[in-house]
Amino acid sequence: MVDNTSVIVLFGPPGAGKGTQAEILARRLNLLHISTGDLLRDELARGTELGKLAKSYMESGELVPDEVVARMVAAKLSKNRGAVLDGFPRTVNQAEILQTLLAERNVGVTAVVEMQVADETVVRRLSSRYICSVCQTPYNLTTNPPKVEGVCDRCGGRLYQREDDRPETVMRRLRVYREQTEPVVEYYRRKGVLVSVEAEGPVEEVTEKILSVLSDPL
Ligand code: ADP
Ligand code: AMP
Repeated sequence: MVDNTSVIVLFGPPGAGKGTQAEILARRLNLLHISTGDLLRDELARGTELGKLAKSYMESGELVPDEVVARMVAAKLSKNRGAVLDGFPRTVNQAEILQTLLAERNVGVTAVVEMQVADETVVRRLSSRYICSVCQTPYNLTTNPPKVEGVCDRCGGRLYQREDDRPETVMRRLRVYREQTEPVVEYYRRKGVLVSVEAEGPVEEVTEKILSVLSDPL
């Protein structure tokens, strides 16, 4: 059912494992990996106007305005290669914008994978998440450590802990997820493209579950 022109949305609360799985799936299926969180952190690190605009929203765990993230996604979508979207759409309005962007390329969303994890898991995973300052690959001190402490396996970059992974901000991000992002599930359920996966197990197990639901016709 999926090929390298498919558009797959990985959906779920912060810490569900979207970034981890998106990177693996993009490699396995030869798709682009588009993470709005990674793109925004890159703008922040480079001190661009967009980064300056996004900074206060990100630090407080609020959503960056829809038009800003939509513009970044539009710039990344390709006409002849599909993508794994990670962290976008996060509001029903963003989902509608995505539909328009894809319609301009004569495609639609192939599948939305809802990754289900308990709040306790989110808090536990994010409190020990470290990400690469260069390529943004996520690691976890307990479940997915790098081979050499503090150094990215993939590119040798320095690992750091995200400001917004502090417990107070994680609670705020979970609240924002419930209030503004969860309604997107219903939007895609109605469109008939939603599949759900229990995402508590080890990384490889979750990958296999996702590939399995993606290989079934919806
Ligand atoms: P998201 O992109 O949804 O915020 P990440 O992919 O960054 O989530 O994962 C959050 C944290 O949990 C990271 O530290 C990551 O290494 C870890 N992680 C991801 N998937 C799993 C898993 N299946 N089991 C245990 N830890 C995981
Ligand atoms: P993430 O890396 O996906 O956890 O995103 C980190 C932060 O970036 C979020 O808490 C938001 O402030 C912002 N962000 C990322 N993606 C979006 C989006 N699609 N819409 C609005 N804000 C976003």
